[in-house]
Amino acid sequence: FHLSGTVTDPATSSQPEIICSVSVSFDRCKITAVTCSCGNKDIFYCAHVVALALYRVRKPDQVKLHLPISETLFQMSRDQLQKFVQYLISVHHTEVLPTAQKLADEILSTNSEINQVHGAPDPTAGASVDDENCWHLDEEQVQEQVKLFLSQGGYHGSGKQLNLLFSKVREMLRMRDSNGARMLTLITEQFMADPRLALWRQQGTTMTDKYRQLWDELGALWMCIVLNPHCKTEQKCWWLKQLRRWNSVDVCPWEDGNHGNDLPNLTHSLPQGAHGNQELRPHRTVFTRAIEACDLHWQDRHLQHIIASDLYANYCYHDNQDGSLFDTRGWPMWHEHVPTACARVDALRSHGYP
Ligand SMILES: [Zn+2]
Repeated sequence: FHLSGTVTDPATSSQPEIICSVSVSFDRCKITAVTCSCGNKDIFYCAHVVALALYRVRKPDQVKLHLPISETLFQMSRDQLQKFVQYLISVHHTEVLPTAQKLADEILSTNSEINQVHGAPDPTAGASVDDENCWHLDEEQVQEQVKLFLSQGGYHGSGKQLNLLFSKVREMLRMRDSNGARMLTLITEQFMADPRLALWRQQGTTMTDKYRQLWDELGALWMCIVLNPHCKTEQKCWWLKQLRRWNSVDVCPWEDGNHGNDLPNLTHSLPQGAHGNQELRPHRTVFTRAIEACDLHWQDRHLQHIIASDLYANYCYHDNQDGSLFDTRGWPMWHEHVPTACARVDALRSHGYP
């Protein structure tokens, strides 16, 4: 559905008053697209979009509801339709006239593509239930900003800006917003494309600690994403494919980084054992742990009970034959390699579990 309005940005000492036309499309409680005539390009919505959205939230009865435009047109007679179109064109003639002419030509030509399909699109109508719906994210803008921050090499507060982007991803995960993974993919792609990686590898120089920390956070966020207890198998497969692709790139930073001490292997306590690609590749990269984490599951019944309830204890659960599931006071226990269990906790926290 569609919400539109004009927002007045009052004059300040440095700028005159601006009047912006804003339009927001939304679908099942999510904003799926925004446009604003202020032309601000940023990852975050401009103040005018936020103002219009808040207005709608706070004063729902002040915003007049309209039927989808296709329904309204359906009620019009031939003469009303003629009037409607002519008025529309005369109000916006500079913007819509070229399109109006082109459409008119196409409609009058029997062989045109437009005449091969029945009906017409209606941007004011809601999407169908099966359609994917997710929050509007300006992908190009994310790429541009990350590229810019990386090119500034940690100066002019760019490291801080990148950390802010990472916290934005964490916030999205907490809200269970599917854009979190999308945004992290865009960020990772820009990180992998950083020309300094090849240069450093060539010269054998190490990256700065600050930059190193950014890569570590990137790896940690991917762990959280693949460990999402709600994620679908096909989604996980897609992420795994992506992670393997980055992992196999020659300049991909190593996990041991500058210091040469490997972090504990996440899966060495798992029945699956070591990963095949470790034998091919002696160095673990920043993505190795996330790749290994793709093998972890949440299906264990005991684990599910632990997560679901604080009150889960021995007295409400009776098949504790071997005594390994609960301690002597009846509290549940979870036996797993500690770093693995910690990774689970981080993932649960980041996906909004208390
Ligand atoms: Zn704006």
